[in-house]
Amino acid sequence: DSGITLAPLDVSKLKVTLTSTPKDIPPAESLKFGKTYSDHMVFITYDPATGWSDPEIKPYAPLSLDPASSCVQFCSNVFEGMKAYVGADGTPRLFRPSLNMRRLERSAARLALPPFDGDVLLELIKRLVQVERRWIPTLSGCSLYLRPTIVGTMPGFSVVPSESATLVVIASPSGPYFSGGVKPVSLLAVSDTVRAWPGGTGGHKVGGNYSPGFLPQKIAEKQGYNMVLWIFGEDKSVTEAGAMNFFVVLKRDEGGLDLITPPLDGTILPGVTRSSCLALAADPSFQKNIASSLHAHERKFTMNDILLWSKEGRLLEALCVGTAAILVSVDRIGYEGSDIFLPKCEGGLGPVGRAFREKILAIQEGKEEFGEWSVPC
Ligand code: PMP
Repeated sequence: DSGITLAPLDVSKLKVTLTSTPKDIPPAESLKFGKTYSDHMVFITYDPATGWSDPEIKPYAPLSLDPASSCVQFCSNVFEGMKAYVGADGTPRLFRPSLNMRRLERSAARLALPPFDGDVLLELIKRLVQVERRWIPTLSGCSLYLRPTIVGTMPGFSVVPSESATLVVIASPSGPYFSGGVKPVSLLAVSDTVRAWPGGTGGHKVGGNYSPGFLPQKIAEKQGYNMVLWIFGEDKSVTEAGAMNFFVVLKRDEGGLDLITPPLDGTILPGVTRSSCLALAADPSFQKNIASSLHAHERKFTMNDILLWSKEGRLLEALCVGTAAILVSVDRIGYEGSDIFLPKCEGGLGPVGRAFREKILAIQEGKEEFGEWSVPC
């Protein structure tokens, strides 16, 4: 025992250095998703001998990395995606940020990156949002997207955990994720490449999950589809769509609607939006927004089920949900050479998709209360 205790993340040690060259903020109407970055970032490092450094908020700047760093060589990268909104009262708000912090703690643990207290990181993120207050777009549907990221920085070619790390949080004022607004998207069901598998990392937000999806995405786009619908296993189970969770809405024989999403079996990211849709679906006050009663299920379903439901006329809506876009509906699924068409909906959203989207946005923008979901900064 060296007698030295490793420093934990400590918000009381925060040092804020403001930029002397603040950037011009682009008009909200011109914002693309994740292409513009704000003036400052949270910056913290972990040293195995001393622990977490005193946190800094400092001008946005490139990182300096040893080319032999673990993150460069082995992709020891984990990240989060969350959004800050300003409500009508002018208060910046985060949407269920504790869920992002718990997920980041789990992602870091999965890659054997240094542990940290997500609640302390959340305090630092709130401070960043306060510093970047002027960067939060006020146009409805726009927000300041926050990207906490941890990378392994230990140099070396041995395949071993990174004992050192850098933690940054950067911020990006963002417009709608899909440039087409709430226009429905088309999906290509893909099973020859798989995104995630049991025992893999699909249930964690690790950087290495995403780059293997670039080629299938490119192929899907070439065939005229917007995103990949990831299919897994001999039985062609439906998992996720692109980097979003997936739901179907079915007409029940006995009246009402079934809302079904695949279970969290390790192949699916436990999405904050997915969890929010499930919680809303179970809430009697939300159910009043939809003409029919909604029965939510987390259960496995296959491409054969989708084909059958479509033939029977029971498949009413298919929805992709995630922080970036909140929710988009699906109008077409390409599968084994033909297309499964979803019913056309006015304005591009069916009644269930619209109710979820409007409710979540209203909570995010502080127009409505729901539990402790909207957290002021
Ligand atoms: N699945 C994957 C693979 C994702 O990357 C994301 C985005 N984080 C989601 C689903 C949606 O999760 P959330 O609602 O937390 O953004």
